[in-house]
Amino acid sequence: MSAVPTSSAAALVRPAIAGIDGYVPGEQPQAGKWIKLNTNENPYAPSPAVARALAATAAGRTLAKYPDPMANAFRRRAAEVLGVEPDWIICGNGSDDLLTILVRSFVGEGQCLRMPYPSYILYRTLAGIQGAACEEVHYQRDWSLGDDFAAPRDDLRLAIIANPNSPSGTLLPPARVAELADRLACAVVVDEAYGDFSDTNCLGLVRDNPRVIVSRSFSKSYALAGLRFGFAVAQPAVIEQLLKVKDSYNCDTLSIAAATAAIDDQAWLAENRAKIIATRRRLTDALRGLGYDALESQANFVWCTHPTRPHKPIYEALKANGILIRSMNYAGWGDGLRITVGTDDEIDAFLACLKTI
Ligand SMILES: *Cc1c(COP(=O)(O)O)cnc(C)c1O
Repeated sequence: MSAVPTSSAAALVRPAIAGIDGYVPGEQPQAGKWIKLNTNENPYAPSPAVARALAATAAGRTLAKYPDPMANAFRRRAAEVLGVEPDWIICGNGSDDLLTILVRSFVGEGQCLRMPYPSYILYRTLAGIQGAACEEVHYQRDWSLGDDFAAPRDDLRLAIIANPNSPSGTLLPPARVAELADRLACAVVVDEAYGDFSDTNCLGLVRDNPRVIVSRSFSKSYALAGLRFGFAVAQPAVIEQLLKVKDSYNCDTLSIAAATAAIDDQAWLAENRAKIIATRRRLTDALRGLGYDALESQANFVWCTHPTRPHKPIYEALKANGILIRSMNYAGWGDGLRITVGTDDEIDAFLACLKTI
């Protein structure tokens, strides 16, 4: 059997698919001993309640049956924690699944998705899969977002703002997001993958504006990146539409049980958050002490640039020493380094190595 050449496979798929580069996630080495500060995972173990829920769910015949398509156990518990009703929540296989559901729901071929730049590049890929345009509105130099983000455009169907943003770790005040959302005629997704690490969030906006949808992830603040669970909050009439687009069983029985146990343990979340924020402070100050321009972060990572030295060789030198960070280069914008807040020991090892470079 001869393999199909790349060119003819490209002719088989939709032109929109042939025309895009796939999204490339950060390095996930599956072997070797790395200090991994490159994809914003939580460095600590999740709440012990998660392992108990997984063990209890794996025993017996539970896994022989399909999962609850609505993940109602999670919705009920999350609704109590967040102060909404269960029908304001839709669950997903990680928040990337929710982003896929949202883009598929709102943006069709020939229409437009708007995002700030630089931000989470996956939004552009998701627009590309739809055969839609992606309009990137540059952040101002101080990482605020100008009124041009709310400029009218006939084919505009969806705007997505990561808040806190990646790679900057900066936060637009909820009042500013509300202002932009009020001016926009389309749906507005606030991607709060890092929302548990910030001082404020945009959850309150969902009540006042039916076009606002907030998404959350269990990958960062709940230390469950390997589990794949996320959810979005919107008004029930919007949730009803989104439910039509999701896969019937997009969350499995194990992840629903684990995420329910995790959100139930708010004491764990508060303690973990405090540890991350303390280490974030120390990392930011240390980077500044070494001559880097490090931004104040509202997330579990720190974005920095060096005024004179090229960034890529710094990343390479750290990697040669078993330490992975992220070297980011945004076309038409610039480059820099993004460092995940690890344990204190990991950050000490990173800083010790950085000093020798
Ligand atoms: C990590 C991340 C996500 C994806 O989260 P998952 O729940 O792991 O799919 C979404 N948005 C942003 C901005 C992220 O950094």
